[in-house]
Amino acid sequence: TRLKANSEGKLAKQICKVVLDHFEKQYSKELGDAWSTTRNILTSPSCWQYAVLFNRFNYPFELEKDLLSKGYYTLFQGSLPYYPESMKCYLSRTPDRMPSQRHQMRNLKKYYLLNAASLLPVLALELRDGEKVLDLCAAPGGKSVALLQCAYPGYLCNEFDSLRSRWLRQTLESFIPQPLVNVIKVSELDGREVGDAQPETFDKVLVDAPCSNDRSWLFSSDSQKAACRVSQRRKLPILQKELLRSAIKALRPGGLLVYSTCTLSKAENQDVISEILNSCSNIVPVDIKGMARTCSPDFTFAPTGQECGLLVIPDKGKAWGPMYVAKLQK
Ligand code: SAM
Repeated sequence: TRLKANSEGKLAKQICKVVLDHFEKQYSKELGDAWSTTRNILTSPSCWQYAVLFNRFNYPFELEKDLLSKGYYTLFQGSLPYYPESMKCYLSRTPDRMPSQRHQMRNLKKYYLLNAASLLPVLALELRDGEKVLDLCAAPGGKSVALLQCAYPGYLCNEFDSLRSRWLRQTLESFIPQPLVNVIKVSELDGREVGDAQPETFDKVLVDAPCSNDRSWLFSSDSQKAACRVSQRRKLPILQKELLRSAIKALRPGGLLVYSTCTLSKAENQDVISEILNSCSNIVPVDIKGMARTCSPDFTFAPTGQECGLLVIPDKGKAWGPMYVAKLQK
C-alpha cells in the first residue's frame, strides 16, 4: 500500500514517482511556465476542491442555507448564454470537502461531489428538453446526473465495462426518480460500434473519453502497474479517435458533439481533435472561447496550444481540472 500516516495521523495518499517524472518531462514542455503551479496543486490533495452539485429531484434547501452561511457561492449563475436554472452547483472559496452521501434504497441523494470543471462539457452540450442525447462513455455517471439537472432528454447512456455499468445504474438510481430512470436506456456496447448500430440518431453526443486521468494515475497505489500505463498511454489516442468516429456517425446532421478528457496530455486532447477534423469532412469545430472568458473568474485555462477547445488547468484557489473540452458540429 502507498498510504502513509500524515501529521494528523490520517492516512495520506502517496505520489507515484514514476508518473510524476513522466508528467514533469511532458507537461513542462506542453504547458511551459504554468506547469509548476499545476504540478503543485496536483501533488497536494489538501488543496483539492470539491464542488457540490445539488440534485433537483431532492433539493437540499437546508443544506443550501448552511452552505451560503459558510461563504459558498453558485457557479456560473447567469453568466453563460446557456445555463439552465435547474442546475445549481455550489463552490467553496477554501478547500472544504462535504461528506459523500451513501446509497439508500428509495431515498434520492441530495447532492453529488465533483470537480467543477466536469460541468463544462455538460454545459457545452446545451441540452434541451426532449432532445435525444447519447452519453457514450458514461460510468460512473457524474456527467449523466449533471445532464439530467439541465433538461429532460431522450436518453441513452452507454458503458462498455460491465462492472462500471452496474455502478452507472446505481448512480442513476441514487439521483433520479424511478419513473425517469425507467425511460433512460443503459447499454453496454463497445462505444466504437454504436455509430454503425444507430447511425444519425442523436441530437447531442457526449464523448467523455477513457484517458490518462492524470489525478488518479499520479496517486496509483501500485507503482508497477502505474509504470506499465506509461507505455499503454500511447495507445489511448487510437481508442479516442475510434470512439469519436463512431460518435460522429451516431450524430444527426446539424447535431452537436462534445469531446472531453481529464488529462493535460496534448496527444489525447488537441492532437486527437485536429486529426478528426482533418480526416472527417462532415464535422466542423464550434468556437467555445467565449465560455472560457465567462468562466475565467472560477477556472484557469491553459494559455497556449489549444487551437480548438479549452483546457482547464489546476491553479491556486482554482484547483479544478485537468479537463479538456472540444465542441464539434456535424
Ligand atoms: N462520463 C463519466 C462520468 O462523468 O462519470 C466518466 C467516464 S470515464 C472518463 C470513461 C469511461 O469509458 C470508463 O468508464 C470506461 O470504462 C469507458 N470505456 C472505455 N472503453 C470504452 C469503449 N470502448 N466504449 C465505451 N466505453 C468505454
